[in-house]
Amino acid sequence: MSARPSLVIASRNAKKRREIEELLAPHWIEVHSVTDFPDVPEVIEDGVTFADNAAKKAAQTAQHLNRWVLGEDSGLMVDALGGAPGVYSARFSGEGATDEKNNKKLLSELADVPDDKRGARYLCHAAISDPRGNIRFTVEATCRGRIIREPRGANGFGYDPYFQILEYHQTFGELSSSVKHHLSHRARAFERLIIPLVRLLQGENA
Ligand code: IMP
Repeated sequence: MSARPSLVIASRNAKKRREIEELLAPHWIEVHSVTDFPDVPEVIEDGVTFADNAAKKAAQTAQHLNRWVLGEDSGLMVDALGGAPGVYSARFSGEGATDEKNNKKLLSELADVPDDKRGARYLCHAAISDPRGNIRFTVEATCRGRIIREPRGANGFGYDPYFQILEYHQTFGELSSSVKHHLSHRARAFERLIIPLVRLLQGENA
């Protein structure tokens, strides 16, 4: 039997990385994390789009390691805030940002926004780089919901306790990880990414 193809995930966010590992788990890929390679310098996420940041994470890490790498950039876009926090989702509350501080800032900015105007979407952009740093495949997907006023549930991460899926009347904090793995922006992106990814790792063109 041939060796499993291997892929490095260029994310330092442990909870997000776990979600990606779970999404890739059924596909016979040996998944590594960039944190397994302490010498890899942190990528500066200064792109103005999710696509820029995902490509930068994938390509720089791939060149450093000479391996196939998946870069993923994602975030929350709130209608009433003109799409903010967007690419700044992880550091919305500034220096030393945490999920708790980011959520606090989000709620305060939406304090005067009525319930029927609190629509939002999560967006996930994923990019696959070959070992030379060439981006070989990209995909982007979204998931719509609304921002509620009080946190609900402890599953997921980031803005999940406030992000309610309308059809389920539950937040990603309340829904199980298996449901999130079907509905989320990341799940939708990976659904389209998996076949091209496996082909690329097996040495075929996507
Ligand atoms: P990145 O690691 O630079 O892509 O930042 C992603 C940020 O977007 C996270 O720190 C969260 O704040 C937010 N985010 C992205 N995806 C999710 C999700 O699935 N649930 C909750 N927050 C998310």
